[in-house]
Amino acid sequence: MARLASGEAEALLGSFREWLRRHGQPVTRQRDQVAAVVLGSTDHLSVEQIQERLQAQGATVGLATVYRTLDLLVQSGMVRGHDFGQRSRRYEPMGPGSVHEHLICTRCGKVEEFTHERLERMLPIIADEYGFQPDRHRVEIYGVCRECQRRVLG
Ligand SMILES: [Zn+2]
Ligand SMILES: [Zn+2]
Repeated sequence: MARLASGEAEALLGSFREWLRRHGQPVTRQRDQVAAVVLGSTDHLSVEQIQERLQAQGATVGLATVYRTLDLLVQSGMVRGHDFGQRSRRYEPMGPGSVHEHLICTRCGKVEEFTHERLERMLPIIADEYGFQPDRHRVEIYGVCRECQRRVLG
């Protein structure tokens, strides 16, 4: 859930088209359809889920085009790809100010998001202590979610 405000997904889609043009990449209807699904999503989507949503919209986009468009979206910085140690990578839109970290349940595969101001402030300080100039980071906590813990207890 990247919590994009309404209109933000539209704006990102516009920026992606712009980015494609600047990089000499054709702006096709299929690329547009894939980008719209990912940028308009509030989940961390797998390629399978992206295909399901495209099909539900009646869009026919080949798997190669889906992968290629995802690569371009990630390159453009508008989408972030995650390897949460699951079968497939997950993708989520990156709007302005959508900094957040993830909790990943290793039982059911659920991905939860959290934001923690103090943590975000600490990370550059830690990097600085090592004389390191931070560019980006990701914090991923793996374990068992609340529902799965209950399931074990019940
Ligand atoms: Zn996320
Ligand atoms: Zn779980």
